[in-house]
Amino acid sequence: MEDCIFCKIIEGKIPGDFVFKDDEIVAFKDIHPLTPTHLLVVPIKHIGALTDLATTDNTLMGNMIAVANKVARDERIADSGYRLVINSGKHAGQLVAHLHIHVLGGRQMSGDFD
Ligand code: 5GP
Ligand code: ZN
Repeated sequence: MEDCIFCKIIEGKIPGDFVFKDDEIVAFKDIHPLTPTHLLVVPIKHIGALTDLATTDNTLMGNMIAVANKVARDERIADSGYRLVINSGKHAGQLVAHLHIHVLGGRQMSGDFD
């Protein structure tokens, strides 16, 4: 999709530090990490937000969680623990309108989500 920063990263038009790629999902490092390890798991197909998911995307979402778990293991944050976050819409603070799962880890986090 034009003017979507994550589509541009996926298409190689702007650089991304990729840790995973297959035919439907990529994962790359967040440019402004909030934790020592901060990855983004992103579908190659442009989906704007959780509210844009179709029931036919259920398998894709399951696969995205599987990829999040795999990259957490690969980046060695699985044993110490990690957090998956999906922001959807304005009140959640979604900045990039291309669905993504944040994979956060590498330090102790509070139970506070704000
Ligand atoms: P959101 O607030 O939409 O859930 O999260 C968007 C995330 O994308 C933010 O954590 C932000 O740092 C990250 N981000 C924004 N622009 C870029 C970029 O050009 N490259 C990478 N790797 N991450 C980006
Ligand atoms: Zn996009």
